[in-house]
Amino acid sequence: MPRSSRVQYQPSALGTKQRKPEDQHEPVSNKRHKNSAEGWADALLQIVDNPSDPSVVYCDEDVIAIKDKYPKAKHHFLVMPRQRHERYQSVRDLTTDDVPLLKHMERVANKLVHDNNKVEDEENNDNGSRSEYRYGFHAVPSMKHLHMHVISQDFDSPCLKHKKHWNSFTTTFFVPLEEVFIAVEKGDTDFQYRENRLKEGLKCHKCGRAQANMPKLKEHIRLCDTACGGKKLLDS
Ligand code: AMP
Repeated sequence: MPRSSRVQYQPSALGTKQRKPEDQHEPVSNKRHKNSAEGWADALLQIVDNPSDPSVVYCDEDVIAIKDKYPKAKHHFLVMPRQRHERYQSVRDLTTDDVPLLKHMERVANKLVHDNNKVEDEENNDNGSRSEYRYGFHAVPSMKHLHMHVISQDFDSPCLKHKKHWNSFTTTFFVPLEEVFIAVEKGDTDFQYRENRLKEGLKCHKCGRAQANMPKLKEHIRLCDTACGGKKLLDS
């Protein structure tokens, strides 16, 4: 992946946007944050301040993208605003002012997918088999600083270990970017009520069949030939 590549983008007012103090609020406070070890939840903020970090796969004035350190699928990126601001803690903080930023994050995600597709086409001799991706945000993030997941739908990764991992990407706990655009327009971006989705029973994200445990689920998704469709959610 080229490190300094740029998408077509007008820098616009993103980098100069002034945030009013009253717009700021405490970092998303929830059980997942409270359980985080000191400093662990700040790791993304440290990378935003250090674009030469080896995990960075794209960077421009307004947006930075990295490889997820604990990928939950073959391809898993995090796309984030460069602006390090208290207000950019989670999807809950977004307003219509942030639509240009979100659109830019989407363009960067498209570029990452496009570049990955090219590599996959070369590896597969253009046989048409490409990874499917979804873009979205966790309803209640565990890490500080707004980050959009760009994740392939194979979920083939040793880092995907627990029910919470699985449910965070395959239930409505994962808020797709298109839903965020609608929520921002409505002025209702608080998805915290979806936290209980993490406790749901395990189901295949393609055929919806219940699975007894993670090893059985992993074996099942490897063999399940139901079309994924990329945008499908089990419970939406
Ligand atoms: P969430 O806050 O639940 O939306 O997800 C945070 C994501 O950050 C997870 O997918 C983690 O694997 C990932 N992550 C945690 N620590 C790091 C790190 N130091 N560098 C890159 N990604 C990380």
